[in-house]
Amino acid sequence: MTTTIGFIGLGVMGGPMAANLVRAGFDVVGYNRSPAKVEPLVDAGGRRAGSAVEAAAGADVVITMLPDSPDVEAVLLGQASGEDARGDDAAGGGDDGDSAGVLAHLSPGATVIDMSTIRPDVARRLAEAGAQRGNRVLDAPVSGGERGAIDGVLSIMVGGDEHAFTSVKPILHAMGTTVVHVGPAGSGQTVKAANQLMVAGILEVVSEALVFLDAHGVDRERAVEVLSGGLAGNAILERKGAAMLEGNFAPGFRVDLHHKDLGIVTAAARETGVAIPVGALAATLVASLRAQGHGDLDHSALLLQVEQLSGRRANDV
Ligand code: NAD
Repeated sequence: MTTTIGFIGLGVMGGPMAANLVRAGFDVVGYNRSPAKVEPLVDAGGRRAGSAVEAAAGADVVITMLPDSPDVEAVLLGQASGEDARGDDAAGGGDDGDSAGVLAHLSPGATVIDMSTIRPDVARRLAEAGAQRGNRVLDAPVSGGERGAIDGVLSIMVGGDEHAFTSVKPILHAMGTTVVHVGPAGSGQTVKAANQLMVAGILEVVSEALVFLDAHGVDRERAVEVLSGGLAGNAILERKGAAMLEGNFAPGFRVDLHHKDLGIVTAAARETGVAIPVGALAATLVASLRAQGHGDLDHSALLLQVEQLSGRRANDV
């Protein structure tokens, strides 16, 4: 029997992830608050739902890929989300947030996989709320960006019940190549927070190196080529270096979302007394980029800020 998957949140990441599930042979019913984003899924062979609850009702597995903790809570638990919702269409219509959420409408035994990046404590709470109704809720945030989502090669870090993980593994493998169960509920989000801490720090030093090379009149394409083959080589330089050199900061991963993630990182570090001096600085730099009105650019726009701080760009970044 074909597995039916309700997919809620078809943005930069969710859209291609849902399309990959269709290609892998799953029956996918999609819902997005701005309806136009469901079109690519329908073109790929998926079905359209008129609401989150409709996408979830009758599904064996429900996947959420939404911007932030309040969005996921609103969709799954049903409380009001309006003022905290981020994304392209916070003022859009839809039925989310004003009625019982998806959890209350799940089939018995259905599993929820939240693949958004949210707070670990919220992930734990959602797992408990699901368990009270007899449904398992896994946290399964991803890394690999839009390219990884399109190519189906994401890294997926999963927290929650191990049996539930085993049962949805084929679904996760249709979207990612590195799929690892990292521990109980919330652990996936903790690992993702560590990922975002590392990405912010690396992006900042890559940006600094590119401005440094430019200031010294070095051919940056050649420099990046040789740096990529040495110890300083890294996935960010490899995947984002060319666009950064072209000054192309179309997202990608929006500054707004990385700001949200660094809030999760700094709060979680503080909770456990872990010192993250470089991470805290990176969080401030990302917050400043956002405060200057660049929340919708790719996070590699940190390069613009280094140029500004170095007097190599006008003050308005
Ligand atoms: P996005 O803003 O492009 O997509 C989110 C989608 O959810 C939008 O299409 C929006 O319309 C929809 N949405 C918002 N609230 C909704 C609701 N209540 N009901 C239905 N649809 C709703 O964001 P994205 O880049 O796809 O990121 C999604 C999540 O994945 C975020 O948590 C982000 O941090 C994480 N993430 C993103 C990337 C990336 O490179 N973009 C990489 C890894 C992880």
